[in-house]
Amino acid sequence: MKILVLNSGSSSLKYQLFDMRNGQVLAKGTCERIGAGGTVTHKRPGESDFHEEKELKNHEAALELVLDLLVSEKHGVIRSVSEIEAVGHRVVHGGEKIRKSTLLTEDIIRYMEANIPLNPLHGPAALAGVKACLDLMPDVPQVAVFDTAFYGDIEDFRYIYPIPYEYYENDGIRRYGFHGTSHRYVSGRLAEVLGKPLESLKIITCHLGNGSSITAVSGGKAIDTSMGFTPQEGIMMGTRCGSIDPTIVPFIMRKYGLTPDEIEDVLNKKSGLLGVSGLSNDCRNVWQAAREGNYRAGLAIKILINGIKRHIGAYCAEMNGLDALVFTAGIGENQVDIRELVCKDMGYLGIEIDENKNRNFERGKPFDITGKNSRVKVWIIPTDEEYMIAKDTLELAEKN
Ligand code: AMP
Repeated sequence: MKILVLNSGSSSLKYQLFDMRNGQVLAKGTCERIGAGGTVTHKRPGESDFHEEKELKNHEAALELVLDLLVSEKHGVIRSVSEIEAVGHRVVHGGEKIRKSTLLTEDIIRYMEANIPLNPLHGPAALAGVKACLDLMPDVPQVAVFDTAFYGDIEDFRYIYPIPYEYYENDGIRRYGFHGTSHRYVSGRLAEVLGKPLESLKIITCHLGNGSSITAVSGGKAIDTSMGFTPQEGIMMGTRCGSIDPTIVPFIMRKYGLTPDEIEDVLNKKSGLLGVSGLSNDCRNVWQAAREGNYRAGLAIKILINGIKRHIGAYCAEMNGLDALVFTAGIGENQVDIRELVCKDMGYLGIEIDENKNRNFERGKPFDITGKNSRVKVWIIPTDEEYMIAKDTLELAEKN
């Protein structure tokens, strides 16, 4: 079965076409600057990339272009759009009710519309992608895979914030957690490579990228996670501050006369590695500057490492133990020094890496960096959210 996976952003549309007989990616690409010009980059394994500037009025125009490319004589990988048997959509927010991937019905679309206040940035974009597909491929089953769904089993005392309870009841203010598709994928893949049932393992998965989150997975279920009501909570990120004393927010707003949108911009786009270092949101650049002796870059790296360690410690305590620690995403998969610093002086928790293996890891595949005396397994597992979406889509489309 061939499955198209779509990830719609406010002005972008990412796509991957899978052949699920072998999990192979036949083609993938990105449309950008939708509604404000338009470009597409289309990639096929073993072929050179195709890039074009083309007016893309909306998501439907972008999807039309993608479908044309997929069947085109020069750049295509299928003969007809009818070969696409199902479409999987990445949806960031499933709200309170959705706890698993689901076939898109009118009810689910209405529910997604009602959920937009919780997800004002990504919600409308995801719906635009869904609606474009309904228009252009009305007979193809469509599945929504929600980033928050993996956290549906988190217990109330871990998702309720200690503020007046009415804000939860009336406004849905609670921990939702994000990056769930990635954490679910890497925890499942870890169990596979260890050859153990996922249900028997206590795992901490560290998704460290421009956005970062850490999740405790016990018995195959996420029991706690660092991101909360929004993807802002938790450890410091490229440009997001992560958890801070909440009173800092009104303090800065009053002192500098900032509006809610302006303070959000500061905390979302000007904080984190960028805000502390004053240099870059890219961890590679900040690390390089730190090595060259830049104080603020070094400070940013120390804050990041300490935040990660703090979460690992907390989740060991919450799970009463740990079998495996996983690193994934841009930083987790690539940055040797960050992994080394996180795992340094963690012997008390039974975590130790083999520095040689860590330095000489192989990119792009699960890689064991566990130290000789480590009680806890430590692995790098490249994430693959699109494959996870395709897998869920396949399962649901086959049942349909
Ligand atoms: P992501 O959001 O998962 O794409 O991750 C972005 C972060 O990963 C950035 O801070 C980069 O510094 C880091 N990163 C991505 N690729 C590499 C690489 N090949 N080597 C080192 N760091 C990388």
